[in-house]
Amino acid sequence: MTEMKTLTIPKPDDWHLHIRDEAMMRAVLPFTARHFARAVIMPNLKPPVVTAADAAAYRDRVRAAIPEGVNFTPLMTAYLTDTTDPDDLECGFEEGILFGAKLYPAGATTNSENGVTDIQNISVVLDRLQRIGMPLLLHGEVTDPDVDFFDREAVFVDRVLTRLRHNFPELKIVLEHVSTHHAVQYVVSEAHSGKLAASITPHHLLYNRNRLFDGGLCPHNFCLPVLKRETDRLAVVEAATSGAPMFFAGTDSAPHPRAAKEKDNAAGGIFSAPTALSIYAEIFDRADALDRLAEFLSLNGSSFYGLNVNEATLTLEKADAPLELPSPIVTEEGDEVVAFPSGMPLSWRVADR
Ligand SMILES: [Zn+2]
Repeated sequence: MTEMKTLTIPKPDDWHLHIRDEAMMRAVLPFTARHFARAVIMPNLKPPVVTAADAAAYRDRVRAAIPEGVNFTPLMTAYLTDTTDPDDLECGFEEGILFGAKLYPAGATTNSENGVTDIQNISVVLDRLQRIGMPLLLHGEVTDPDVDFFDREAVFVDRVLTRLRHNFPELKIVLEHVSTHHAVQYVVSEAHSGKLAASITPHHLLYNRNRLFDGGLCPHNFCLPVLKRETDRLAVVEAATSGAPMFFAGTDSAPHPRAAKEKDNAAGGIFSAPTALSIYAEIFDRADALDRLAEFLSLNGSSFYGLNVNEATLTLEKADAPLELPSPIVTEEGDEVVAFPSGMPLSWRVADR
């Protein structure tokens, strides 16, 4: 006998997603579009999406890649550089093309070499974002080579985020893919402001950094920010499952061709779009917090961003037999993309309706 447990929630949103472009986008976007009503689309293409016009053109390409009959809204972002024009951002925001502005410290992650070299360089832009109520989305890691790689996020909080919060107290900020106890604590300590939130990925909930070295070096578990200690993972789980309104889902699903992962200087990024909801449900189930899953997946993000909760619903079901994990997907150019996680049984899945 198969015992089935089900949970129906408003359709979730993915508040942090990479889908790349062209053949890769066409291969990966359907996995997100099926399960999520909206997603914040990251702008780190090559070259990056820096202007409102770039974002409008990218949005057209994204819309063209949404499978027929699927209701999915891409929310576009602009990649901040040292020379971003605040008027262009404001125009894009007012016209509904741009949803937020994304700050990558130069060199922090995939295609971030055009990122901001010093936050001082964009204070006019930050001032404008604050004035017009446009959210700032942060890749919260310093890139100082003297800082230990595993401390990049914590040092960012201390060196950059606290200063940002001090100088722009009304600016709406999302610390993306929060991965440390230190960062979680800071976000909680600023909860009273209502201006700081954090998104959380499936992989930072599921794995600690031992999984990078599990029987040998594991490039498919390498992401940025990198996985952290078990104490950090537990803090992130606690934040997600607490129901606190400033924490919500952002998968940071980030596909790379297998050849870019299984090599020297392997690319950082975990492709979790097919399994993200299964993992989130699994984590909440283990924490005995399934009654708070809807907050995390479907309510907290829309509330922070001032959007409506999706009217459509989605049902998750738990089977007593573990899910069959997805095999690598193949783009029309023949690139394989390995889906996360490998070798971890998951028993929750999205029900077909
Ligand atoms: Zn990302």
